[in-house]
Amino acid sequence: MAKRDYYDILGVSKDASDKDIKMAFRRLAKKYHPDVNKEPGAEEKFKEAQEAYAVLSDESRRKQYDQFGHAAFENGGGSAGGGFDFSGFDFSDIFENLFDFGMGGSPFGFSSSSRRKSKGNDSLLVMEVSFMEAALGAKKEIEITTTDTCPECKGKGGFGEHSCEECHGSGTITSKQNTLFGSFLTKTTCPTCGGEGVTYDKVCSKCHGKGRVKTVKTVEVKVPEGVDDGNRIRLSGYGEASLNGGPNGDLYIEFKVKEHDFYMRDGADVYINLPITITEAILGCKKDVKLLNSTVTLTIPAGTNSGDKHRIKGKGIKDVNYHSRGDFYVIVNVVTPKKLSREQKKLIEKLEATDLSDKTIDKYNKFVRQ
Ligand SMILES: [Zn+2]
Ligand SMILES: [Zn+2]
Repeated sequence: MAKRDYYDILGVSKDASDKDIKMAFRRLAKKYHPDVNKEPGAEEKFKEAQEAYAVLSDESRRKQYDQFGHAAFENGGGSAGGGFDFSGFDFSDIFENLFDFGMGGSPFGFSSSSRRKSKGNDSLLVMEVSFMEAALGAKKEIEITTTDTCPECKGKGGFGEHSCEECHGSGTITSKQNTLFGSFLTKTTCPTCGGEGVTYDKVCSKCHGKGRVKTVKTVEVKVPEGVDDGNRIRLSGYGEASLNGGPNGDLYIEFKVKEHDFYMRDGADVYINLPITITEAILGCKKDVKLLNSTVTLTIPAGTNSGDKHRIKGKGIKDVNYHSRGDFYVIVNVVTPKKLSREQKKLIEKLEATDLSDKTIDKYNKFVRQ
């Protein structure tokens, strides 16, 4: 009996693409797989298809076959009746999911429609903002790389749409599966059209049939006033494109607030350290304090200590969730000089000779002498 042409076996044309060959083989494997089909001759058909696929799915073997036909493989070992020996050929990527039950469906029922449009994946971007941008709010432009519906084919993946011949437009294939518990029908996503119910004459060259392309977009992000480290906002529809024409996912932006050289933050309250000299601390003084968006003059009373705290009410940061505003705290830091001129030292020694004691110091001295 003359050996059949590999292309005829798979039912594809001589110029079939790799994808077409794979699909054709999957179709036959499903139909004639010995686990499923117990009819006489099914196993032979299955093996025949395996052999054809093993040759035609490999670029160099396919070339040899195109040139010399079956004779290309007749000399090297070969299976009975001649032809390519495909034992040892890896079919795992074909047989994987060959009989799956659809998307998470159970073998005892039909899976829900595989054509339902699902939302694209959400994505997360960490955005660094300055202390002031976070405190006062800002507008920032960012570039995001995302997947978008292909503009060329409008996300279809190809041109020349027609109803899928394999599933007759339903997007699913019903197959009978035999197990220890008996046989039942399972519905799986059609491998030819990927569940779309339609196939195309020509694959879109821009997106290579995926229907989606990578795009770089410039997006203006409004940094909300009062946003804090770790806060997130959501930009609806700026996530990844859907795999099947559904809406885009969302883009989450998480803020990372950089430290400020002078301001510190605790929630909505802002703190600043105010350095003053010892004489300013002793005699009192007036000091300019730079608030977030204005400047005030603060009176530091005579006899001020390091760590003394002054509250300027309502001049902190706006609470991002409420309408209230935090406070602004000025923490005094008395800076003791490390180097004195001879003149200064004399003056300090003169001061030292006087009695500078006060209640707090007297109390401590008493305690020490007990
Ligand atoms: Zn189909
Ligand atoms: Zn396209």
